[in-house]
Amino acid sequence: MRVLITGAAGFLGSHLSDRFIAEGHTVVGMDNLITGNMDNIAHLMGHERFSFIKHDVSNYIYVPGQIDAVLHFASPASPNDYLEHPIPTLKVGSLGTHNTLGLAKAKGARYLLASTSEVYGDPQVNPQPETYWGNVNPIGPRGVYDEAKRFAEAMTLAYQRYHGLETRIVRIFNTYGPRMRLNDGRVVPNFIHQALTNQPITVYGDGSQTRAFQYYSDLVDGIYRLLHSNEDLPVNIGNPNEMTIVEFARAVIDIANSQSQIVFVQPTDDRFTDDPKQRRPDISKAQRVLGWEPKVQLAEGLKQTLDYFRDKV
Ligand code: UDP
Repeated sequence: MRVLITGAAGFLGSHLSDRFIAEGHTVVGMDNLITGNMDNIAHLMGHERFSFIKHDVSNYIYVPGQIDAVLHFASPASPNDYLEHPIPTLKVGSLGTHNTLGLAKAKGARYLLASTSEVYGDPQVNPQPETYWGNVNPIGPRGVYDEAKRFAEAMTLAYQRYHGLETRIVRIFNTYGPRMRLNDGRVVPNFIHQALTNQPITVYGDGSQTRAFQYYSDLVDGIYRLLHSNEDLPVNIGNPNEMTIVEFARAVIDIANSQSQIVFVQPTDDRFTDDPKQRRPDISKAQRVLGWEPKVQLAEGLKQTLDYFRDKV
């Protein structure tokens, strides 16, 4: 296959590019580099089956030649990033999704949308199955991401139903691993940075809010399976190992063998507004339709991630 991956210089886009190259496919990577970084794909530059186009997919996309699959992964994805770039976030989820869908239609390609557990907002059911409609505040600071992704799902289903396009939607839950940006503001790079430098670990609020963290390689495997499956409605891909943020802080301190102490802080800016109080994927659909479940335990994934960040702090 010849595959277009938008957001190819990002954390997930770069790992996906690696997987498709490793499977023998040809990858065209696209990124506008507002949150992506060429370092993530430096090892692919010059590969005979990889090429890169610097382009903002919120504008019309031109790619010559055959394309068999379009994977739309371009978007700021950390709360800090989408608070800093609210309008580009709305545009890439709406116009960028429309443009990538249009390209897939013109090329006769299969389409896969990177959606998110944020479509469930601050969920009132836990764990979240794909049938849950969510609890999103459209006008809150997170609305720029959440609503863009909800629109993106609606647009993707419209192309499927109206144009007969082959589409897939993955709802990605919290994912971590090498190539996250140390300063992206999310809990994993923050805590790892703090633990490796023996600084206080900043738990927001009282730390009783929960998340469930999956290692990137499990996600990439789920996405690869989903693209090749027949499932044309959204599928959650995440690790159901739910824990409080305080428990997560302790795990990072422990695995990093750090001297850091936990401190509780109340961010006064928008970072903590509408912070979901609980989140955990119901993965029974992924198990049933993809034969997929996560394999990497938190201790192992954190160890790999700490090794990656050790010489970057
Ligand atoms: N968080 C925290 N300290 C930090 C960064 C984040 O306690 O230094 C919390 C944040 O309030 C949220 C959770 O960790 O409850 C996960 O935040 P993140 O930004 O990683 O992603 P989210 O899952 O909210 O999109």
